[in-house]
Amino acid sequence: MIGHRIAAIPGDGIGREVLPAAQRVLDAAASRYDVRLSWEELPWSCAWYAEHGAMMPADGIDRLRETDAIFVGAIGHPRVPDHVSLWGLLIPIRRAFDQYVNLRPARLLPGLASPLRDCGRFDVAIVRENTEGEYSDVGGRFATPAGDVAVQESIFTRRGCERVLRYAFALARSRGGRLISATKSNGIMHTMPFWDEVTAEVAAEHPDVEWRRMHVDALAARFITDPEDLDVVVGSNLFGDILSDLAAAVSGSLGVAPSANLDPTRENPSMFEPVHGSAPDIAGRGVANPIAQVWCGAMMLEHLGHPEAAADVLAAIETVTADPVLRTRDLGGKATTKDVTSALVDVLAKA
Ligand code: ATP
Repeated sequence: MIGHRIAAIPGDGIGREVLPAAQRVLDAAASRYDVRLSWEELPWSCAWYAEHGAMMPADGIDRLRETDAIFVGAIGHPRVPDHVSLWGLLIPIRRAFDQYVNLRPARLLPGLASPLRDCGRFDVAIVRENTEGEYSDVGGRFATPAGDVAVQESIFTRRGCERVLRYAFALARSRGGRLISATKSNGIMHTMPFWDEVTAEVAAEHPDVEWRRMHVDALAARFITDPEDLDVVVGSNLFGDILSDLAAAVSGSLGVAPSANLDPTRENPSMFEPVHGSAPDIAGRGVANPIAQVWCGAMMLEHLGHPEAAADVLAAIETVTADPVLRTRDLGGKATTKDVTSALVDVLAKA
C-alpha cells in the first residue's frame, strides 16, 4: 500500500460541493491500485477570512510543506475582493512552492459540444508561466501634476523563462510534437523580445519539436478559426491565463476545465485546482459540474506517480460525458453533482 498525504482545501461556493465529490472518485480509483489518499481538510477560504482577517494562518505554508499535494476547490466570495483572496492564498502557495508551471489541458470530451460550429478534434495543453511575468507586485500609483499615474512592472528572468519553456517543449515531445509560443514582441519592446530569444534557445535543444511563435492576438483568433491545429501552447503568466480561459470555453464549459500548478522538480508539493471559480450564482444547489475537479484529481494522481489510476479516472470521465442523461446544467442537462459523481464511481467500480 502506498500512502499520500493530501491537503484538501474546499474553499468557497461550489468548491465545497465539487471537492468532496472528487474525493469520492479519487478514493475509488486509487484503491484499485492499492494507493491510499489521506486527506487533511483545511478550511482556509473567504469564510475563514471573515472570521480571522487572513486567508490562511501564519504557519499555513509550513503546514502545506508537509503534504505530498494540495487539492483546492474554489476560492472567492462576492464580499471579499479578488485581489485579497488571490494574493492571500493561491499566489503565496504558488510562489512559496515554486510552482512555476500552470498546466491547463483542454479537450473536447466525448458527447460535448463546443460553442464553435464545426469544431472537430480539440486537444490542447496550455503551459502558463506561473511565478513572474506580468503578475508582479512591482509598481505603484503616483500623483503627478498631470494627474494620477499607475505603473505596473513585468519581471521576466532568464531562469524563469527557460524552465517553463523547457517544460513546454518536453511536453510537446510527449504529445503531438508541436508547440506555439505566445508573444507580442511587436508591441512590448523589452520583455517579449527577451521571451522570444529564450524560446529560440530552448527550441534549439529540442530539434524534434516543430515550433513557431505567434503574436497573442493572432493566436487568440487561431483558437477560434483553427482549434484542431493546436497542440502545446506556451505563454507568459498573463497570456497563458487569458488563452487558457479561451481554451476552456472552446471545450464546452468551465465546468470541465482543470489546472495544475506544478513544481516539476518535485521538491515542493504541487497544487491542483479547477479553472472555474466559486460560482456564487449556483452554489449550494447541488448542480455544479464536478468534472473539472475530478480531472484535476486525475492530474494529481499522475503527478504522484500513478498514471494508471489517472487514466482510469479520465476514461470514467469520458464514459460519463458521452451519456446525455449525465450532463449537468452547464452542459445543457439536468443531472446533479451527486448523479455525476455516483456515475463516475460506478464506472470505476465496473472497470
Ligand atoms: P470567481 O470570481 O470566483 O471566478 P465567477 O462567478 O466570476 O467567480 P466562475 O465561478 O468561474 O466565475 O463562474 C463563471 C460561470 O460559470 C458562472 O455562471 C458559473 O455558474 C459557471 N460555472 C463555473 N464553474 C461551474 C461548474 N463547475 N459547474 C457549472 N457551472 C459552472
